[in-house]
Amino acid sequence: MGIRVVARIRPQQSHELGKDVIVSTASNAESEQPTLVKIPNPKNESEDFTFQFSSVYDHTATQQQIFDNEVSPTIKHLFNGFDVTIFAYGSTGTGKTHTMRGGKTLAERGVIPRLLSGIYRRARKIVKDSERETTVEITLSYYEIYNDKVFDLFEAPEKRTLAGLPLRDNGCKTVVVGLTERPCESLKEFENLYDQANINRSTSATKLNAASSRSHAILGIRLAVTTGDEVRTSIASAIDLAGSEDNRRTQNGKERMVESASINKSLFTLAKCVEAISQKDARIPYRESKMTRILSLGQNNGLTVMILNLAPVRSFHLDTLSSLNFANRTKRI
Ligand code: ADP
Ligand code: MG
Repeated sequence: MGIRVVARIRPQQSHELGKDVIVSTASNAESEQPTLVKIPNPKNESEDFTFQFSSVYDHTATQQQIFDNEVSPTIKHLFNGFDVTIFAYGSTGTGKTHTMRGGKTLAERGVIPRLLSGIYRRARKIVKDSERETTVEITLSYYEIYNDKVFDLFEAPEKRTLAGLPLRDNGCKTVVVGLTERPCESLKEFENLYDQANINRSTSATKLNAASSRSHAILGIRLAVTTGDEVRTSIASAIDLAGSEDNRRTQNGKERMVESASINKSLFTLAKCVEAISQKDARIPYRESKMTRILSLGQNNGLTVMILNLAPVRSFHLDTLSSLNFANRTKRI
């Protein structure tokens, strides 16, 4: 079913007010909604580069709009047995966590709690409306990939081993051996599990002397819809990716170099998969990194949404350009 790549430009933060805004949006002839992002060529500022997306959101976009337009429509596919994968890509400080997890208030809630809320709502409706007896089971997993190792975020940080969890190929699927799968029956229960796991995430990051921006956090929402003796299963994965910034420019400690190498490799594989899916290429190189392999990215007729998070100001110029190039290797105009 393919892929949608959309861009979201966050507002200026208070300490950025008065700074130079260099990213702008535009619409092309066919649509009212903006689909273009413009940014100056750093080598010749009188020239702009223009990139095209499925849609583009500027600083006025709300959490609700992002969810309603980009994520909510995937829920019916999920209930029809197709996998859904949602990524937030961008350098640190561009709004990935804000987009995926969001803030505490209802209005600030990000894609993830809204997705769960939408799934529970649909599950209740299906159970109520279907003529034959139907049950919906929802199971969660939550893990991070750091330095190409998988760590369970539903496990207490003390139980974490430095080696991480192994992968095993199970027919055409790859599974993480020993990963906790938690049945979860309500949005309230989800919120408690998710909050605790995010605390685990920051504690273990401190132990490993790593910032959470250096790991990919992957929430898996597994769905099993049983009607009579037919079971339909699917999984939605929501991913807050590691920061895509080029660490070679800013830091040069050995540990950071190892981190950067593994982040670059996994993001590079992700870019190749995105390109292959958008070109309807039969060969998607999803086996080339742990993350894309666990997600079986692009297999099973799934649906992928990539949200490219961008900061509007000049201090992010090169990172913004490299993010735009990443997402649009095939569509730069
Ligand atoms: P990342 O996870 O990519 O490092 P964050 O989500 O932490 O970035 O965002 C960086 C800062 O910008 C945070 O203070 C966040 O609250 C703020 N921010 C990001 N996107 C938005 C937005 N759309 N509206 C308001 N504030 C935002
Ligand atoms: Mg973040």
